[in-house]
This record gives sequence, structure tokens and C-alpha cells, in this order.
Amino acid sequence: MDLSTLRSQFPALAQSNDGYPLCYLDTAATSQKPQQVIDAMNHYYQFDNANVHRAAHQLSARATTQYEAVRDKLCQLICAERREEIIFTHGTTESINIVANGLTSQLRQGELILIDSAAHHANIVPWQELAQRTGAIVKPIPLTGDCRLDITAFDALLTERPAIVALSHVSNVLGTVNPVAELVARAKQVGAITLVDGAQAIAHMDVDVQAIGCDFYVFSGHKMYGPTGIGVLYGRFDPLDKLTPLMTGGEMIKTVSFSGTVFNQLPNRLEAGTPPIAEVIGLGAAIDFLNALPKTPVREAEQALLVYLQDSLQDLGDIALYGAHSDNLGAVAFNLAGEHHQDVGILLDQQGIAVRCGHHCAMPLMQILQLNGCCRASIGVYTDKADIDNFITAMKSVKELLL
Ligand code: PLP
Repeated sequence: MDLSTLRSQFPALAQSNDGYPLCYLDTAATSQKPQQVIDAMNHYYQFDNANVHRAAHQLSARATTQYEAVRDKLCQLICAERREEIIFTHGTTESINIVANGLTSQLRQGELILIDSAAHHANIVPWQELAQRTGAIVKPIPLTGDCRLDITAFDALLTERPAIVALSHVSNVLGTVNPVAELVARAKQVGAITLVDGAQAIAHMDVDVQAIGCDFYVFSGHKMYGPTGIGVLYGRFDPLDKLTPLMTGGEMIKTVSFSGTVFNQLPNRLEAGTPPIAEVIGLGAAIDFLNALPKTPVREAEQALLVYLQDSLQDLGDIALYGAHSDNLGAVAFNLAGEHHQDVGILLDQQGIAVRCGHHCAMPLMQILQLNGCCRASIGVYTDKADIDNFITAMKSVKELLL
């Protein structure tokens, strides 16, 4: 693929707002979609629209073939051992809830659940709820002064033999990357069940769930150039098979009678009801899109751009950067000295720059940083140097206006 044409595959990026070309720096919230994803979903609705698995007719057979092919693509993408280990959900949030709910009967009063202090609420609240139901205890793994997970503190917490360790792969606020393979290996030594939230990792790095060694790995389609409404729960077969289903009903059963129900096997067992079929097919197109990219040049360009973004903000002056490291992925968190993040965001928007402002669904991290919020600029494969330069020019004018 010619990299110079990459951006033109994203129709939303061609627009202008109030005369300013759109400068989309909010990919960590949701990525823009390439034309082939939009086309794949339209094609399904125009020609193949039918429910999967159930009917004898050709439309259903075509829909089922396309739907199940995406399971195989995902299996390959994240190096899962078996296709049954891939469960379609509606997003990362649902995936974590399926795991946290499904573990209820396996957890005892007083057992420990370790979570990442920088985690998104989706990887905090379901564990708190699980603790409420079981009498387990949730403890956060502290961060170091430079906003990395504190490995010494993690090791100390592991001596308490946690039952569950839930980590982020990449922080959605800071962009910091956790060495998940190393952390999971340590957690496994004390027998913990491990979950890694890969929502912010999957679009930016190779993910090999077997190399990571985790029991569960979760992510959302919409952050990897796919549609909203589709997510993935990967689980190693045995721990996945032990989860009590969160949802019950059609599709997930083998037999039903008024004297009792027998659940189906994986993956159907955890996919109750009609799945988001068009969204799964759109996700398949997003995987095709990612697979067609020349990986190394794209990754190198993205990394160089992130460092350029960090450096350009730093050079602007009067900027506080949070947890900025050259090996971060995708996002930069910042504030303009003394100014409210929302004011900065609104003034940037008036110049066509889309960034995210607020607590980023990571209130505990904001409390650690002693902030009521911050701005976040985040990038994707379509972001170019002109986007960063436009953003910095806009930031200069915001600074002149506010300071
Ligand atoms: N985890 C992380 C790290 C995220 O960045 C997000 C979304 O921003 C989520 C979980 C929740 O994802 P979703 O809203 O797609 O379920």
C-alpha cells in the first residue's frame, strides 16, 4: 500500500469545519473508519442481510461464513491457539464484565484483586462489583513518579497471592505501555488469573496473547479502524470455559426444556442472542486493512510522530505533560499552565482541532496526578506531520488568548 494514499481512504478526514480542515487527534476515543470498512458493512446490509447460524437459506449461509471468517482472522491477528477462544462482544467494557461476572463463583471472601492505578473505569468498576458480590478486596497497583506501573510495589502485592490481576496494556490517558508479558509471568507464579485490557494497544502494536501468557485479553473494534458495537474477548480455552455466562438465551444453548437447559460449547456459550453481525463483518474489513499496511514503516512513522507531538508541545512552553515517554503509544496527556482543559479543548475545536478533554474515564489516575482533568491528543495511522503542526499552531493562539 502506498502510504501517501493511506489518509485518503478515510472519508471523514476530508471534511472542513468552519473553514478549518479537520485535524482529528482523538483516535484513542475512537478511530476514523477506512472506506473498506464502511463498504463491507453496507454490502452486508444490501446483499447478505440475514441472521447467522440459524437458517437453511443462502443469505444466512453467506452471513454465517463471513461472520465466522472474522473469528479466524482475529485468532490469527492475536495468535490465539484456537478459534473457540475468540468471543464476540459489544466492546472492551462488555468483555471485562463477562469475565468479572463469570468469575463470581470462583472467588472467595477476602481474596485479592489487583488492578492498574492508571486503568480505564471499564477495568476498575467490574472488579469493584465482583468484590462487592464476593467479599473480595480490590487493591490498586501503584505508579512510579514518572507514571509507570511500579514493579517493586507490584512484586510486594504479589506476596499476598492475589486471585486476579487486571492490567492495562497501554494507558488510554498517558499512552504508557506496561510490560504485560513480564507482569503476567510474575502473576502466574502466584497462581493469579490474569486479564489484559488491550483497547489502546491493538491498533498500535503486535499482540501475541500466547507470548503475553494472559488468561484473558480484551479490546474494541472501534479503536482499531473498525465499527462501534463490536468487541473481542479472548480467553485461554480452559479459563474461558469455566466462566459462568453473563447472558443467557438463544444461541448459547444446546438444549432447552422446562426441566432444564444445557449450555452450548465455546464460543457460542458466551455469545447469547443475535450478535452484531454487520459490525463483526466491518471488524473483519478493519483487520484486512491493518494486515495490508506495511507494518514496520507504519509503526515507525507513528512512533516518530508521537515523539514529535510530545517534543512540539514541550517546546511550546507553559505546558505540563503527564507520563510522557518516547516509548509510549498513541496518546499524549497535557495541560496548558493553569488553564482549564475544557477551555483549551473548545478553543482548539474552533480551529478544527479535535482533542479529548476531561478525566478520560480514569478518575483514579486523575486523583493520583492531582488533576480535575487534562487534554489528550492521540494519533492513528492516518495522522501526519501537518496535523501536529496545525495543532501546535492552534495551541499557540490558544496560549496567546488565555495566558
Ligand atoms: N479500556 C481502555 C484502555 C479504553 O481506552 C477504553 C475506551 O476508551 C475502554 C477500556 C472501554 O472501551 P469501550 O468503550 O469500547 O467498551
